[in-house]
Amino acid sequence: MDRAARVYIAGHNGMVGSALVRRLQQAGYTNILTRTRAELELLDQAATHAFLAQEKPDFIFMAAAIVGGIHANNTLRADFIYQNLMVEANLIHGAWLAGVQRLCFLGSSCIYPRDCPQPIKEDYLLTGPLEPTNEPYAIAKIAGIKLCESCNRQHGTKYFSVMPTNLYGANDSYDLASSHVLPALIRKAHEAKQRGDNELAVWGSGKPMREFLFVDDLADACVFLMEKGITDGFYNVGTGKDVTIRELAEIVMSVVGFAGRIVFDATKPDGTPRKLLDVSRLREIGWQARTPLREGIALAYRDFMARHGG
Ligand code: GDP
Repeated sequence: MDRAARVYIAGHNGMVGSALVRRLQQAGYTNILTRTRAELELLDQAATHAFLAQEKPDFIFMAAAIVGGIHANNTLRADFIYQNLMVEANLIHGAWLAGVQRLCFLGSSCIYPRDCPQPIKEDYLLTGPLEPTNEPYAIAKIAGIKLCESCNRQHGTKYFSVMPTNLYGANDSYDLASSHVLPALIRKAHEAKQRGDNELAVWGSGKPMREFLFVDDLADACVFLMEKGITDGFYNVGTGKDVTIRELAEIVMSVVGFAGRIVFDATKPDGTPRKLLDVSRLREIGWQARTPLREGIALAYRDFMARHGG
């Protein structure tokens, strides 16, 4: 893709959007379009359509979404389905109206059925019931994939989607009530070390398994697919390896340097037992994740310290 192409990143201040900006800048793209929420409210259909009609980007990355961990997904259910559906509908339909030919929609591995075979292939979409704790979010993300697919079928656009596994890295949210497990454990272990505690509270049983992808690896995969000229369908993005929540807590504690005991809080939900992605579709076309988990956690901890440490 031409380095002077106008690439709009919706949600550039978030963890994924900011990683995309870094990656595109590093690759030499000179026309990166961004708007803060104060400048453009993506829930506002008229404002979003007017922006797209005026700017006519050559490519759009859709990293704008309301996201969160198991507690936020489970409690802010109406916000998660409504806001994500609105942003997707406004951006994808607006992109087509404005004549935008190419777009990458970002989904999530929670779109797949709760009890599907592991590792999860793209083909398992819509083959069974979803995990209840994040069903509203998953339904919105499935709608996003289908908006892209349907727009391609009816209007001949070239919109594709990526389904990242659980992400972590720079600019993550460390709010304990709404964050995902990895940033939550970094913060909890750091604070426990500072207080001189001898215990770390981990939600659920510690037995669920999760796969974690460093966000800069995701950005690399998205730019790879854009440059490859992908025009349709969707791709899992992950590392192909998972760990139990207990193992994750042990790695985080060792990176942070906290040597206490893990205590499991059974009043909190486990969520889906396992969601390991099958990443062969992406591997076959030449992309693989690079950052080992421990190394990525050390980088994330450094970012946490820079932004919240002290
Ligand atoms: P999920 O992948 O959609 O289930 O979202 P999370 O990243 O929030 O949670 C993953 C798993 O980690 C679940 O089994 C949680 O119960 C567990 N977990 C353990 N400790 C924590 C914590 O402090 N915060 C969060 N969000 N999850 C935790």
